[in-house]
Amino acid sequence: MVKQTIQIYSRIKPTKKITAVYSVDDEENRVGSTLEFVVPRDLADGFINNKKESYLFRFQKVFDQEAKQEEVFEHIAKPVADNVLAGYNGTIFAYGQTGSGKTFTITGGAERYSDRGIIPRTLSYLYQHFSQDSSKVYTAHISYLEIYNEVGYDLLDPRHEASRLEDLPKVTIMEDEDQNIHLKNLSIQQSANEEEALNLLFLGDTNRMIAETPMNQASTRSHCIFTVHVCSREPGSSTLRRSKLHLVDLAGSERVGKTGVGGQLLTEAKYINLSLHYLEQVIIALSEKNRTHIPYRNSMMTSVLRDSLGGNCMTTMIATVSVDKRNVDVKASPTLIIHPS
Ligand code: ADP
Ligand code: MG
Repeated sequence: MVKQTIQIYSRIKPTKKITAVYSVDDEENRVGSTLEFVVPRDLADGFINNKKESYLFRFQKVFDQEAKQEEVFEHIAKPVADNVLAGYNGTIFAYGQTGSGKTFTITGGAERYSDRGIIPRTLSYLYQHFSQDSSKVYTAHISYLEIYNEVGYDLLDPRHEASRLEDLPKVTIMEDEDQNIHLKNLSIQQSANEEEALNLLFLGDTNRMIAETPMNQASTRSHCIFTVHVCSREPGSSTLRRSKLHLVDLAGSERVGKTGVGGQLLTEAKYINLSLHYLEQVIIALSEKNRTHIPYRNSMMTSVLRDSLGGNCMTTMIATVSVDKRNVDVKASPTLIIHPS
């Protein structure tokens, strides 16, 4: 497989409210689309000024409000799943402010079957492939890791129900002589079919919600990494081929306001901003040609994903965007989504 850079997409959440002025422009002869926001200058810098200011962001493709889950899966997740079936690791991130549609995109909505997100659709796709491809014997295992304030927790740990997040065993990173990463206290559970895998997703999501209180909205302040470990073997052969697919629901990318935030909230926000910043550094380093040092070790997330970003791995990011007028804060626009794809 050809070494490729990171693919960056954007998805705009549907809204009935008044939206910011924006337009999506699919470039005809080139792969890519541009998302443009027009912000009156008086909003951008606090001075009254009638000139408009335009902000352009380029993506591989922009999925506008009407894009369906099916389309997002076909376009974004299927190629990564195919690559994982071919034996390479892959990672898909959802990045965006709280409320912009990260969880909807990665996991899906509960109301309609058609609202299934990338995880259930990918599981269905993988198991279908396993049963159709008679040239190999496949096994799949699932793990579901939550990273909160730089500490990892096993979302499939049954003790979640009875304990507070802080009291659960912490997942720690260990490295062997060959610099392979091992995660202590993270269970990896075999799932024989799609239903079993979906049950594990459901268990993990339930545990995500149990940990959530008004003071600790864990799911918006933590990163959740759902991993499918695929192992295949040709009948009669003893050679195993392993690959991993990580589906990552990142913590909300909103910046901390300058006033009124302190204590626990500020600590969380610092960790989130820092870990997103370290992820950005890794992604930028991977996209630069001839870079030899990639700073994986700075955060737990980049350490965990070290063998699944860049190189032969397919890495894809979906920047989810809410275009409700009140959400467009030019000064807070994340640098990550400006990064050219
Ligand atoms: P985040 O995880 O980024 O905080 P959510 O995925 O929870 O945001 O989305 C916030 C709300 O908007 C949820 O009620 C979700 O169902 C809804 N939503 C998000 N994206 C879409 C979409 N593309 N189509 C329909 N509803 C959506
Ligand atoms: Mg969410």
